[in-house]
Amino acid sequence: MRHNKTMKEQLDCIVIGAGVVGLAIARRLAISGMQVIVLEGEAQTGMHTSSRSSEVIHAGIYYSKDSLKARLCVAGKEMLYQYCEERHIPFLRLGKLIVGVSADDEEKLQQIELKANANGVADLLWLTKKEMASREPSVRASLALLSPSTGIIDSHSLMLSLHADFENLGGTVACQNKVLSVVVEEDGFLISTEKEPQSLVRCKNLINAAGLWALHVARKVSGLDAQHVPSQYLAKGHYYSYQGSSPFTQLIYPLPSDGGLGIHVTRDMAGAARFGPDVSWIDSIDYQFDESGKVEFIAAIRDYFPDLNPDKLVPGYTGIRPKLSGPGEQPADFMIQGSRTHGVPGLVNLFGIESPGLTASLAIGEYVELLVQEDG
Ligand SMILES: Cc1cc2nc3c(=O)[nH]c(=O)nc-3n(C[C@H](O)[C@H](O)[C@H](O)COP(=O)(O)OP(=O)(O)OC[C@H]3O[C@@H](n4cnc5c(N)ncnc54)[C@H](O)[C@@H]3O)c2cc1C
Repeated sequence: MRHNKTMKEQLDCIVIGAGVVGLAIARRLAISGMQVIVLEGEAQTGMHTSSRSSEVIHAGIYYSKDSLKARLCVAGKEMLYQYCEERHIPFLRLGKLIVGVSADDEEKLQQIELKANANGVADLLWLTKKEMASREPSVRASLALLSPSTGIIDSHSLMLSLHADFENLGGTVACQNKVLSVVVEEDGFLISTEKEPQSLVRCKNLINAAGLWALHVARKVSGLDAQHVPSQYLAKGHYYSYQGSSPFTQLIYPLPSDGGLGIHVTRDMAGAARFGPDVSWIDSIDYQFDESGKVEFIAAIRDYFPDLNPDKLVPGYTGIRPKLSGPGEQPADFMIQGSRTHGVPGLVNLFGIESPGLTASLAIGEYVELLVQEDG
Protein backbone atom coordinates (compact mmCIF):
# COMPACT_ATOMS: atom_id res chain seq x y z
CA MET A 1 0.00 0.00 0.00
CA ARG A 2 1.34 3.39 -0.86
CA HIS A 3 -1.04 5.60 1.16
CA ASN A 4 0.81 7.92 3.51
CA LYS A 5 -2.21 9.76 4.72
CA THR A 6 -5.74 8.69 5.60
CA MET A 7 -7.42 7.07 2.66
CA LYS A 8 -10.73 8.87 2.11
CA GLU A 9 -12.17 6.16 -0.08
CA GLN A 10 -13.80 3.29 1.79
CA LEU A 11 -12.93 -0.19 0.50
CA ASP A 12 -15.59 -2.90 0.57
CA CYS A 13 -13.37 -5.18 2.59
CA ILE A 14 -9.98 -5.71 4.17
CA VAL A 15 -8.70 -9.16 5.06
CA ILE A 16 -5.92 -9.29 7.65
CA GLY A 17 -3.51 -12.17 6.99
CA ALA A 18 -2.36 -13.81 3.74
CA GLY A 19 -2.19 -17.43 4.85
CA VAL A 20 -4.23 -20.02 2.98
CA VAL A 21 -7.39 -19.06 4.88
CA GLY A 22 -7.07 -15.28 4.34
CA LEU A 23 -6.30 -15.83 0.65
CA ALA A 24 -9.27 -18.18 0.20
CA ILE A 25 -11.60 -15.69 1.88
CA ALA A 26 -10.25 -12.75 -0.17
CA ARG A 27 -10.68 -14.70 -3.42
CA ARG A 28 -14.24 -15.66 -2.50
CA LEU A 29 -15.22 -12.08 -1.62
CA ALA A 30 -13.59 -10.78 -4.83
CA ILE A 31 -15.61 -13.35 -6.83
CA SER A 32 -18.75 -11.93 -5.22
CA GLY A 33 -17.80 -8.53 -6.66
CA MET A 34 -16.26 -6.84 -3.63
CA GLN A 35 -13.24 -4.56 -3.75
CA VAL A 36 -10.82 -6.29 -1.38
CA ILE A 37 -7.29 -5.70 -0.07
CA VAL A 38 -5.35 -8.24 1.99
CA LEU A 39 -2.97 -6.75 4.55
CA GLU A 40 -0.08 -9.07 5.42
CA GLY A 41 2.59 -8.28 7.99
CA GLU A 42 5.34 -10.41 6.44
CA ALA A 43 7.28 -9.78 3.22
CA GLN A 44 5.53 -12.70 1.50
CA THR A 45 2.29 -14.65 1.69
CA GLY A 46 2.00 -17.91 3.65
CA MET A 47 5.06 -17.51 5.88
CA HIS A 48 3.48 -19.07 8.98
CA THR A 49 1.11 -21.97 9.73
CA SER A 50 0.08 -22.44 6.10
CA SER A 51 3.66 -23.38 5.15
CA ARG A 52 4.21 -25.60 8.18
CA SER A 53 1.52 -28.26 7.95
CA SER A 54 1.30 -31.95 6.97
CA GLU A 55 -0.28 -30.90 3.63
CA VAL A 56 -2.95 -33.55 4.03
CA ILE A 57 -6.41 -33.17 2.52
CA HIS A 58 -8.40 -34.55 5.43
CA ALA A 59 -11.54 -36.61 4.94
CA GLY A 60 -13.46 -35.15 7.93
CA ILE A 61 -13.26 -38.20 10.16
CA TYR A 62 -12.39 -37.08 13.66
CA TYR A 63 -14.51 -34.04 14.39
CA SER A 64 -17.74 -33.84 16.39
CA LYS A 65 -20.97 -34.06 14.42
CA ASP A 66 -22.24 -30.68 13.17
CA SER A 67 -19.10 -28.90 14.34
CA LEU A 68 -17.63 -26.27 12.01
CA LYS A 69 -14.54 -28.45 11.68
CA ALA A 70 -16.64 -31.39 10.45
CA ARG A 71 -18.88 -29.39 8.13
CA LEU A 72 -16.18 -27.19 6.62
CA CYS A 73 -13.69 -30.05 6.27
CA VAL A 74 -16.11 -32.36 4.46
CA ALA A 75 -17.35 -29.59 2.15
CA GLY A 76 -13.87 -28.09 1.75
CA LYS A 77 -12.32 -31.43 0.79
CA GLU A 78 -14.59 -31.81 -2.25
CA MET A 79 -14.12 -28.15 -3.23
CA LEU A 80 -10.36 -28.52 -2.90
CA TYR A 81 -10.11 -31.66 -5.05
CA GLN A 82 -12.16 -29.96 -7.75
CA TYR A 83 -10.14 -26.73 -7.54
CA CYS A 84 -6.85 -28.69 -7.76
CA GLU A 85 -8.06 -30.42 -10.90
CA GLU A 86 -9.24 -27.18 -12.52
CA ARG A 87 -6.05 -25.26 -11.70
CA HIS A 88 -3.54 -28.11 -12.12
CA ILE A 89 -2.39 -27.86 -8.51
CA PRO A 90 -0.34 -30.94 -7.59
CA PHE A 91 -2.35 -33.33 -5.40
CA LEU A 92 -2.77 -37.07 -4.90
CA ARG A 93 -5.81 -38.90 -3.56
CA LEU A 94 -3.49 -41.39 -1.84
CA GLY A 95 -5.74 -42.73 0.88
CA LYS A 96 -4.78 -43.10 4.51
CA LEU A 97 -4.61 -46.01 6.93
CA ILE A 98 -5.47 -45.50 10.59
CA VAL A 99 -3.80 -48.40 12.28
CA GLY A 100 -4.65 -50.26 15.46
CA VAL A 101 -1.75 -52.10 17.10
CA SER A 102 -3.47 -53.82 20.04
CA ALA A 103 -6.81 -55.52 20.73
CA ASP A 104 -8.00 -52.42 22.65
CA ASP A 105 -7.63 -50.32 19.53
CA GLU A 106 -10.51 -52.01 17.71
CA GLU A 107 -13.08 -50.23 19.85
CA LYS A 108 -11.30 -46.88 19.32
CA LEU A 109 -11.32 -47.44 15.57
CA GLN A 110 -15.04 -48.26 15.75
CA GLN A 111 -15.62 -44.93 17.51
CA ILE A 112 -13.73 -43.17 14.72
CA GLU A 113 -15.87 -44.92 12.11
CA LEU A 114 -19.06 -43.84 13.92
CA LYS A 115 -17.89 -40.22 14.02
CA ALA A 116 -16.94 -40.37 10.34
CA ASN A 117 -20.35 -41.76 9.40
CA ALA A 118 -22.08 -39.04 11.43
CA ASN A 119 -20.11 -36.47 9.43
CA GLY A 120 -21.19 -38.00 6.13
CA VAL A 121 -17.86 -39.75 5.51
CA ALA A 122 -19.23 -43.18 4.68
CA ASP A 123 -16.39 -44.61 2.60
CA LEU A 124 -14.15 -46.03 5.35
CA LEU A 125 -13.07 -49.65 4.87
CA TRP A 126 -11.82 -52.18 7.44
CA LEU A 127 -8.60 -54.03 6.71
CA THR A 128 -7.53 -57.19 8.55
CA LYS A 129 -4.02 -57.88 9.80
CA LYS A 130 -3.43 -60.07 6.72
CA GLU A 131 -4.67 -57.42 4.31
CA MET A 132 -2.49 -54.83 6.02
CA ALA A 133 0.56 -57.11 5.81
CA SER A 134 0.19 -57.47 2.05
CA ARG A 135 -0.66 -53.80 1.46
CA GLU A 136 1.95 -52.23 3.77
CA PRO A 137 4.51 -54.90 4.77
CA SER A 138 6.56 -52.46 6.89
CA VAL A 139 3.61 -51.60 9.13
CA ARG A 140 2.77 -53.54 12.28
CA ALA A 141 -1.01 -53.47 12.69
CA SER A 142 -3.63 -55.78 14.11
CA LEU A 143 -6.26 -54.09 11.96
CA ALA A 144 -6.81 -50.76 10.20
CA LEU A 145 -9.36 -48.37 8.79
CA LEU A 146 -8.73 -47.14 5.25
CA SER A 147 -9.90 -43.66 4.34
CA PRO A 148 -9.86 -43.55 0.52
CA SER A 149 -10.80 -39.86 0.26
CA THR A 150 -7.76 -38.59 2.20
CA GLY A 151 -5.04 -37.08 0.04
CA ILE A 152 -2.03 -34.78 -0.13
CA ILE A 153 -1.62 -31.38 -1.75
CA ASP A 154 1.17 -28.97 -2.60
CA SER A 155 0.02 -26.20 -0.26
CA HIS A 156 2.43 -23.64 -1.77
CA SER A 157 0.96 -24.12 -5.25
CA LEU A 158 -2.50 -23.80 -3.73
CA MET A 159 -1.64 -20.44 -2.16
CA LEU A 160 -0.02 -19.18 -5.38
CA SER A 161 -3.17 -20.11 -7.27
CA LEU A 162 -5.53 -18.44 -4.78
CA HIS A 163 -3.32 -15.34 -4.83
CA ALA A 164 -3.31 -15.26 -8.65
CA ASP A 165 -7.10 -15.72 -8.85
CA PHE A 166 -7.57 -12.91 -6.35
CA GLU A 167 -5.31 -10.49 -8.23
CA ASN A 168 -6.94 -11.40 -11.56
CA LEU A 169 -10.23 -10.34 -9.98
CA GLY A 170 -8.74 -6.94 -9.15
CA GLY A 171 -7.65 -7.64 -5.57
CA THR A 172 -4.35 -6.60 -3.99
CA VAL A 173 -2.21 -8.38 -1.42
CA ALA A 174 -0.21 -5.71 0.40
CA CYS A 175 2.73 -7.39 2.17
CA GLN A 176 4.80 -5.73 4.90
CA ASN A 177 1.62 -4.10 6.12
CA LYS A 178 1.22 -5.32 9.68
CA VAL A 179 -2.04 -4.09 11.18
CA LEU A 180 -1.44 -2.11 14.38
CA SER A 181 -4.89 -0.89 15.36
CA VAL A 182 -8.50 -0.87 14.26
CA VAL A 183 -11.00 1.83 15.15
CA VAL A 184 -14.68 1.00 14.73
CA GLU A 185 -16.37 3.94 12.99
CA GLU A 186 -20.02 4.66 12.29
CA ASP A 187 -20.06 2.77 9.00
CA GLY A 188 -16.92 0.66 8.95
CA PHE A 189 -13.35 0.58 10.20
CA LEU A 190 -10.24 2.76 10.21
CA ILE A 191 -7.13 0.62 10.15
CA SER A 192 -3.58 1.70 10.77
CA THR A 193 -0.59 -0.32 9.63
CA GLU A 194 3.06 -0.30 10.60
CA LYS A 195 4.33 1.21 7.35
CA GLU A 196 6.48 4.34 7.69
CA PRO A 197 4.98 6.91 7.38
CA GLN A 198 2.07 5.15 8.96
CA SER A 199 -0.73 4.15 6.61
CA LEU A 200 -4.38 4.52 7.36
CA VAL A 201 -7.09 2.79 5.39
CA ARG A 202 -10.88 2.65 5.64
CA CYS A 203 -13.14 -0.31 4.91
CA LYS A 204 -16.74 -1.37 5.39
CA ASN A 205 -16.00 -5.01 6.25
CA LEU A 206 -13.01 -6.39 8.12
CA ILE A 207 -11.96 -10.04 8.23
CA ASN A 208 -9.43 -11.00 10.87
CA ALA A 209 -7.66 -14.10 9.47
CA ALA A 210 -4.37 -13.49 11.29
CA GLY A 211 -3.91 -17.12 12.35
CA LEU A 212 -1.73 -17.41 15.46
CA TRP A 213 -2.11 -13.64 15.98
CA ALA A 214 -5.89 -13.40 15.44
CA LEU A 215 -6.44 -12.83 19.17
CA HIS A 216 -3.87 -10.02 19.29
CA VAL A 217 -5.52 -8.36 16.29
CA ALA A 218 -9.00 -8.73 17.85
CA ARG A 219 -7.76 -7.13 21.07
CA LYS A 220 -6.72 -4.11 19.01
CA VAL A 221 -10.23 -3.54 17.64
CA SER A 222 -11.59 -0.65 19.68
CA GLY A 223 -15.24 -1.33 20.34
CA LEU A 224 -15.00 -5.14 20.41
CA ASP A 225 -15.98 -6.44 23.84
CA ALA A 226 -13.07 -8.47 25.29
CA GLN A 227 -15.45 -11.29 26.23
CA HIS A 228 -15.56 -12.21 22.52
CA VAL A 229 -11.81 -12.87 22.38
CA PRO A 230 -11.12 -16.42 23.59
CA SER A 231 -7.99 -17.77 25.29
CA GLN A 232 -5.49 -19.42 22.99
CA TYR A 233 -3.04 -22.27 23.59
CA LEU A 234 -0.02 -22.99 21.40
CA ALA A 235 0.97 -26.56 20.50
CA LYS A 236 4.16 -26.96 18.52
CA GLY A 237 4.66 -29.96 16.26
CA HIS A 238 8.03 -31.21 14.98
CA TYR A 239 8.48 -33.00 11.66
CA TYR A 240 11.43 -35.29 10.92
CA SER A 241 12.30 -36.05 7.30
CA TYR A 242 13.00 -39.67 6.45
CA GLN A 243 16.20 -40.23 4.46
CA GLY A 244 15.85 -42.65 1.58
CA SER A 245 12.82 -43.97 -0.21
CA SER A 246 9.54 -44.18 1.67
CA PRO A 247 8.75 -47.65 3.05
CA PHE A 248 4.99 -46.95 2.66
CA THR A 249 2.60 -46.46 -0.24
CA GLN A 250 -0.17 -44.70 1.70
CA LEU A 251 -0.39 -42.26 4.59
CA ILE A 252 -0.09 -44.10 7.90
CA TYR A 253 -1.75 -42.68 11.03
CA PRO A 254 -1.82 -44.09 14.55
CA LEU A 255 -4.85 -43.40 16.75
CA PRO A 256 -5.25 -39.71 17.67
CA SER A 257 -3.50 -38.52 20.84
CA ASP A 258 -4.06 -35.54 23.16
CA GLY A 259 -3.84 -32.32 21.12
CA GLY A 260 -3.11 -33.94 17.75
CA LEU A 261 -3.70 -36.76 15.32
CA GLY A 262 -0.67 -38.79 16.49
CA ILE A 263 2.80 -38.94 14.93
CA HIS A 264 1.90 -40.04 11.43
CA VAL A 265 3.81 -40.52 8.24
CA THR A 266 2.92 -38.57 5.20
CA ARG A 267 4.85 -37.72 2.07
CA ASP A 268 5.30 -34.76 -0.20
CA MET A 269 4.52 -34.62 -3.90
CA ALA A 270 8.08 -35.75 -4.70
CA GLY A 271 7.56 -38.95 -2.68
CA ALA A 272 9.76 -38.04 0.31
CA ALA A 273 8.39 -39.33 3.61
CA ARG A 274 8.18 -37.26 6.79
CA PHE A 275 7.08 -38.20 10.28
CA GLY A 276 5.24 -35.89 12.65
CA PRO A 277 3.95 -33.78 14.18
CA ASP A 278 4.29 -34.39 17.92
CA VAL A 279 2.52 -32.14 20.43
CA SER A 280 4.63 -29.83 22.55
CA TRP A 281 2.74 -27.16 24.52
CA ILE A 282 4.60 -23.82 24.39
CA ASP A 283 4.09 -20.32 25.78
CA SER A 284 5.25 -18.15 22.88
CA ILE A 285 5.60 -18.43 19.12
CA ASP A 286 9.01 -19.89 18.34
CA TYR A 287 9.69 -22.29 15.44
CA GLN A 288 13.03 -23.56 16.76
CA PHE A 289 13.47 -27.30 16.29
CA ASP A 290 13.94 -28.98 19.67
CA GLU A 291 15.37 -32.51 19.39
CA SER A 292 14.93 -33.32 23.08
CA GLY A 293 11.69 -35.19 22.35
CA LYS A 294 13.28 -37.48 19.75
CA VAL A 295 13.29 -40.56 22.00
CA GLU A 296 9.51 -40.40 22.56
CA PHE A 297 9.06 -39.57 18.90
CA ILE A 298 10.91 -42.73 17.85
CA ALA A 299 9.00 -44.85 20.38
CA ALA A 300 5.67 -43.59 19.01
CA ILE A 301 6.66 -44.44 15.43
CA ARG A 302 7.97 -47.88 16.42
CA ASP A 303 4.51 -48.79 17.69
CA TYR A 304 3.47 -49.20 14.05
CA PHE A 305 6.85 -49.21 12.23
CA PRO A 306 9.08 -51.45 14.39
CA ASP A 307 11.99 -51.56 11.92
CA LEU A 308 12.51 -47.80 11.96
CA ASN A 309 16.19 -46.90 11.76
CA PRO A 310 16.44 -43.68 13.84
CA ASP A 311 19.54 -42.58 11.92
CA LYS A 312 17.29 -42.03 8.92
CA LEU A 313 15.30 -39.34 10.78
CA VAL A 314 16.67 -35.83 10.30
CA PRO A 315 15.13 -32.64 11.71
CA GLY A 316 12.71 -31.11 9.21
CA TYR A 317 10.55 -28.22 10.33
CA THR A 318 8.03 -27.21 12.99
CA GLY A 319 4.53 -25.77 12.92
CA ILE A 320 2.43 -24.24 15.68
CA ARG A 321 -1.25 -25.00 16.16
CA PRO A 322 -3.44 -22.05 17.30
CA LYS A 323 -5.62 -24.00 19.73
CA LEU A 324 -8.66 -22.98 21.74
CA SER A 325 -8.39 -26.03 24.03
CA GLY A 326 -5.50 -26.76 26.36
CA PRO A 327 -3.72 -29.95 27.44
CA GLY A 328 -6.13 -32.74 28.42
CA GLU A 329 -9.22 -30.80 27.31
CA GLN A 330 -11.72 -31.92 24.69
CA PRO A 331 -10.70 -30.57 21.25
CA ALA A 332 -12.30 -27.18 20.56
CA ASP A 333 -14.06 -26.26 17.34
CA PHE A 334 -13.08 -23.47 14.94
CA MET A 335 -14.53 -20.17 16.18
CA ILE A 336 -15.70 -17.91 13.34
CA GLN A 337 -17.63 -14.96 14.71
CA GLY A 338 -19.71 -12.40 12.85
CA SER A 339 -21.74 -9.48 14.14
CA ARG A 340 -24.56 -11.70 15.38
CA THR A 341 -22.11 -12.97 18.02
CA HIS A 342 -20.09 -9.89 18.91
CA GLY A 343 -22.32 -7.01 17.79
CA VAL A 344 -19.80 -5.15 15.57
CA PRO A 345 -21.32 -4.94 12.04
CA GLY A 346 -18.93 -5.93 9.25
CA LEU A 347 -16.36 -7.63 11.50
CA VAL A 348 -15.54 -11.34 11.19
CA ASN A 349 -12.97 -12.90 13.55
CA LEU A 350 -11.48 -16.34 12.87
CA PHE A 351 -9.98 -18.02 15.95
CA GLY A 352 -8.47 -21.46 16.47
CA ILE A 353 -8.01 -22.26 12.78
CA GLU A 354 -5.79 -25.27 13.32
CA SER A 355 -6.13 -28.53 11.35
CA PRO A 356 -8.16 -29.10 9.15
CA GLY A 357 -7.92 -25.41 8.15
CA LEU A 358 -5.98 -26.11 4.95
CA THR A 359 -8.55 -28.68 3.79
CA ALA A 360 -11.42 -26.43 4.83
CA SER A 361 -10.01 -23.19 3.39
CA LEU A 362 -12.31 -22.87 0.35
CA ALA A 363 -15.38 -23.76 2.44
CA ILE A 364 -14.31 -21.24 5.10
CA GLY A 365 -14.23 -18.65 2.28
CA GLU A 366 -17.89 -19.35 1.49
CA TYR A 367 -18.87 -19.40 5.17
CA VAL A 368 -17.29 -15.98 5.77
CA GLU A 369 -18.97 -14.61 2.63
CA LEU A 370 -22.36 -15.52 4.15
CA LEU A 371 -21.47 -13.75 7.41
CA VAL A 372 -20.46 -10.64 5.45
CA GLN A 373 -23.70 -10.76 3.43
CA GLU A 374 -25.75 -10.94 6.66
CA ASP A 375 -24.47 -7.45 7.50
CA GLY A 376 -25.49 -6.17 4.06
C1 LIG B 1 1.66 -28.82 12.60
C2 LIG B 1 0.45 -28.53 11.78
C3 LIG B 1 -0.02 -29.48 10.86
C4 LIG B 1 -1.17 -29.22 10.10
N1 LIG B 1 -1.57 -30.13 9.16
C5 LIG B 1 -2.68 -29.89 8.43
C6 LIG B 1 -3.10 -30.81 7.44
O1 LIG B 1 -2.41 -31.79 7.14
N2 LIG B 1 -4.26 -30.56 6.78
C7 LIG B 1 -5.02 -29.48 7.05
O2 LIG B 1 -6.10 -29.34 6.47
N3 LIG B 1 -4.63 -28.54 7.96
C8 LIG B 1 -3.47 -28.73 8.63
N4 LIG B 1 -3.04 -27.81 9.54
C9 LIG B 1 -3.83 -26.60 9.73
C10 LIG B 1 -3.56 -25.55 8.66
O3 LIG B 1 -2.18 -25.49 8.35
C11 LIG B 1 -4.04 -24.19 9.17
O4 LIG B 1 -5.39 -24.33 9.58
C12 LIG B 1 -3.98 -23.10 8.12
O5 LIG B 1 -2.73 -23.06 7.50
C13 LIG B 1 -4.29 -21.77 8.79
O6 LIG B 1 -4.16 -20.76 7.83
P1 LIG B 1 -4.33 -19.24 8.24
O7 LIG B 1 -4.38 -18.48 6.98
O8 LIG B 1 -5.49 -19.14 9.20
O9 LIG B 1 -3.05 -18.90 9.14
P2 LIG B 1 -1.57 -18.48 8.72
O10 LIG B 1 -1.05 -19.29 7.62
O11 LIG B 1 -0.76 -18.44 9.97
O12 LIG B 1 -1.76 -17.00 8.18
C14 LIG B 1 -2.00 -15.91 9.04
C15 LIG B 1 -1.28 -14.71 8.45
O13 LIG B 1 -1.64 -13.55 9.18
C16 LIG B 1 -0.50 -12.70 9.20
N5 LIG B 1 -0.66 -11.73 10.29
C17 LIG B 1 -0.64 -11.97 11.61
N6 LIG B 1 -0.82 -10.83 12.30
C18 LIG B 1 -0.95 -9.85 11.39
C19 LIG B 1 -1.14 -8.44 11.47
N7 LIG B 1 -1.27 -7.79 12.66
N8 LIG B 1 -1.22 -7.71 10.32
C20 LIG B 1 -1.13 -8.33 9.10
N9 LIG B 1 -0.92 -9.66 8.98
C21 LIG B 1 -0.85 -10.41 10.10
C22 LIG B 1 0.65 -13.66 9.40
O14 LIG B 1 1.88 -13.08 9.02
C23 LIG B 1 0.23 -14.83 8.52
O15 LIG B 1 0.77 -14.75 7.23
C24 LIG B 1 -1.89 -28.01 10.28
C25 LIG B 1 -1.40 -27.06 11.19
C26 LIG B 1 -0.24 -27.31 11.91
C27 LIG B 1 0.28 -26.28 12.86
